[in-house]
Amino acid sequence: MQELSKRTASFTESIIRKMTRISDQYGAVNLSQGFPDFDPPKEILTSLKEASMKGPHQYAVTWGAQNFREALAHKQEHFSGMKIDPNTEITVTCGSTEAMMAAMMAITNPGDQVIVFSPFYENYGADAILCGAEPLYVPLVPPAFHFDGDVLEAAFKKGAKALILCNPSNPCGKVFTREELKLISALAIKYDAYVITDEVYEHILYEPYEHLYLASFPGMRERTITCSSLSKTYSITGWRLGYVIAEERIIDRIKKVHDFLTVGAAAPLMEAAVTGLLFDDKYYKELQRHYTHMRDLFLKGLDEIGLPYIKPQGAYYVLTDISEFGCKNDVAFCEWLAKEVKVAAVPGSAFFKEQTHSFIRFHFAKKDETLQLALQNLSEIYKKADRR
Ligand code: GLN
Repeated sequence: MQELSKRTASFTESIIRKMTRISDQYGAVNLSQGFPDFDPPKEILTSLKEASMKGPHQYAVTWGAQNFREALAHKQEHFSGMKIDPNTEITVTCGSTEAMMAAMMAITNPGDQVIVFSPFYENYGADAILCGAEPLYVPLVPPAFHFDGDVLEAAFKKGAKALILCNPSNPCGKVFTREELKLISALAIKYDAYVITDEVYEHILYEPYEHLYLASFPGMRERTITCSSLSKTYSITGWRLGYVIAEERIIDRIKKVHDFLTVGAAAPLMEAAVTGLLFDDKYYKELQRHYTHMRDLFLKGLDEIGLPYIKPQGAYYVLTDISEFGCKNDVAFCEWLAKEVKVAAVPGSAFFKEQTHSFIRFHFAKKDETLQLALQNLSEIYKKADRR
């Protein structure tokens, strides 16, 4: 038989999705793959019911339904302070996974270099491989996850075409400061590079941290490709509604890539989600309060058990330090944890370029009772580890 493609030969299964499979296999509480186990807002569900009867049920405009783009432009203008043209500066995609892929395909050529901060969300590696681009990793150093400006500049100096910025960061929960974003902007401008942002956690922040939109920094509008989604903000990860916002020159190209990749996002789901995009500030304040409650509940539990962790500033993950267990393989550790302790986490090595087996990632977008059950199971971790 002919060989399959070289480009995809090095692909491994997504470790995040694999951990969900393992969790189900052992009947563990699944704190691995990040998705809420609570319902989306009722108003959105009511609109979904209406859309199921009234439609639309056929293709929307390939780059997104008009009313969805208008509502999205309005919402993003409100939070970012930028002017956004719903007709020329937005493409609605099937989740921000497609948004990032389309952005990468629209700007890179095979052999181009793309800067990725490590730890990183695992899809970025796959995006780079599919585009034939080479990732250049710049470490975010734990526990504060600061980066060294000189190391970053050296990566730009190598001729990187773009930098991928996940802010707030999955998996480390870092929220980039104004100074850090200024430095990234200055380097992107100096070395004439693009920045592709992944801002899916833009509304999941813990006080006193604040989300700043890189595209709104001076000189960055024309070189920033903002990717985000409705998944986390409205607890609808299964709806696959994401988007790209950029200047017309870039969006024109992204529209074409997107058209041939997927034609478009689901029309009835866009229709129903408009309700969410029209929510007022109260919704986002309540979302923040709810996430602060979940984070605090889970971290307090980890404190009581005695498991050390790095406190997240945003997003809904916590990197927990497992170095005291002396494990040489965090994947095996996570399998053991799911099987014996009945809690599933993602091994940190899925996110770090650097060789490390010191962290596992829990996510806490869960109902109180789910978090309590996970904590109850985790309270046995030391006892069970002694018997390993
Ligand atoms: N973003 C989520 C995570 O990091 C879900 C990933 C996925 O399965 N698409 O866990």
